[in-house]
Amino acid sequence: MTRIAIIGGGISGLAAAFDLEQRRQTAHDVEYTLYESSSRLGGVLRTECVDGCVVEAGPDSFVTEKPWAADLCRSVGLGDQLIGSNDADRKTYILTRGRLVEMPDGLMFMVPTKILPTGLSPLFSWKTKLRMAQELFHPPRAVNHDESVADFVERHYGQEMVDRLADPLLSGIYGGESSSLSVRAVLQRFAEMERTHGSLGRAMLAAHKRMSSGPRKPAPPLFTSLRNGMQSLAETIVSRLNAASLRTDTPVKAIQPESGGWTVSLGAQAEHFDAVIVALPASATANVLHDVSSDLSAELGAIQYSSSITVALAYDLEVRQALPPGFGFLVPRSEEKRLLAATFVHNKFPQRAPEDRALLRCFFAGSNAESVWDLTDEQIVGVVREELQQILGPQIRGLRAEPLFARVYKWKSAMAQYGVGHLERLERIEILRKALPGLALAGNGYRGIGVPDCVRSGREAAKELLT
Ligand SMILES: Cc1cc2nc3c(=O)[nH]c(=O)nc-3n(C[C@H](O)[C@H](O)[C@H](O)COP(=O)(O)OP(=O)(O)OC[C@H]3O[C@@H](n4cnc5c(N)ncnc54)[C@H](O)[C@@H]3O)c2cc1C
Repeated sequence: MTRIAIIGGGISGLAAAFDLEQRRQTAHDVEYTLYESSSRLGGVLRTECVDGCVVEAGPDSFVTEKPWAADLCRSVGLGDQLIGSNDADRKTYILTRGRLVEMPDGLMFMVPTKILPTGLSPLFSWKTKLRMAQELFHPPRAVNHDESVADFVERHYGQEMVDRLADPLLSGIYGGESSSLSVRAVLQRFAEMERTHGSLGRAMLAAHKRMSSGPRKPAPPLFTSLRNGMQSLAETIVSRLNAASLRTDTPVKAIQPESGGWTVSLGAQAEHFDAVIVALPASATANVLHDVSSDLSAELGAIQYSSSITVALAYDLEVRQALPPGFGFLVPRSEEKRLLAATFVHNKFPQRAPEDRALLRCFFAGSNAESVWDLTDEQIVGVVREELQQILGPQIRGLRAEPLFARVYKWKSAMAQYGVGHLERLERIEILRKALPGLALAGNGYRGIGVPDCVRSGREAAKELLT
């Protein structure tokens, strides 16, 4: 019988536990124990139902293109609960000099694939539009060292593209700044396009041409979620696990290799296992591994995390009708607001709000989150309401009224920041980890911060230890 410990009960740890449970039930040769420091399982996957609205405190969905989260949903029996984003209404606005400007059609991240909409868009100055045309002649780049997303985008399209698009888009995903995020880690596909084609515009057009020459399939929705919210994934996994294997309110202090296996120390108590999956944020993994390998711990500890805050606000039908169509807006830092983004949930996932409700999900991250962190929930709601009125315009009178309800969720150091040199750091981590047999790592600190990548990391960790 192989005994495996899983440390961390977020989606990464739960995905690993699900695979170990399958093996336990079929081959009867594995036992596992999952340790979670808090009283609930699911980590940042948390959903509340308030006044008929499905309110997501953490992630609200995942990108459909990465299959691992949806696959897991199907494996646990939630296939019929999967919902797609309402892409017919997929518009995103960027706050530009105090006005909401629609992102032009055909923009793939920051690469224009349709000339006319981008050429006519007030989002960019003529100088940037000229840079977009010149970019088509960008030569392939032989140098293969990492750089920041900001430097990469600036080389291709200039500083305005960094400020108006790259930075706000990445803040919405990583809660970080494009000047410190690694292009090779967070925009791997674009770095590869530059290597092969030079111009991102030409690479994208070539990819489009290849796709349109094959049989035409309707595009899947950009985002996928679950009818009753993301927490239902965590809850359903938990319901499929062996209840006796789950230990909530049990923080792990340290782990140590011992007698060909691993000892998990809970403070006064210690338990022995053959192998261990650490499915914690990299910074917390650094702490539990501190006495095992100072080099490994230092590398893990160098992966930075940023904090974020989501605020849900509900309004009545008058506000819903007055809000612009689309999924929401992003706020570049140059606009000097504290809000980074807002999602019009009732448009993105209409199932999540009754027809007579507007549901807004507002987002602070990184230094913007730190700037309001110590305020009370009421004060944070006050900041959000003030900025929403400034951004959406005084013409939406209903926004001046008290929201029907408001919820504030704070997530301390939950979003990994893949800094410049992240992939090289992961190579060093892999070498150090492999010197410690029976140790596997999973979580958002390594090869993808989104839910699908976390699921993949957990399942791969389980598979590695089982084989
Ligand atoms: C506000 C927010 C919005 C997001 N939006 C999206 C989105 O829309 N789409 C998307 O794909 N991704 C999104 N993400 C990212 C994604 O949700 C996370 O990266 C992912 O859920 C992390 O899962 P995890 O299991 O690796 O970590 P976590 O969820 O952080 O879980 C780690 C668990 O370990 C526990 N723990 C910590 N220390 C110990 C210890 N010593 N012993 C035992 N247990 C411990 C913690 O209590 C926690 O439960 C978002 C993240 C946040 C914070």
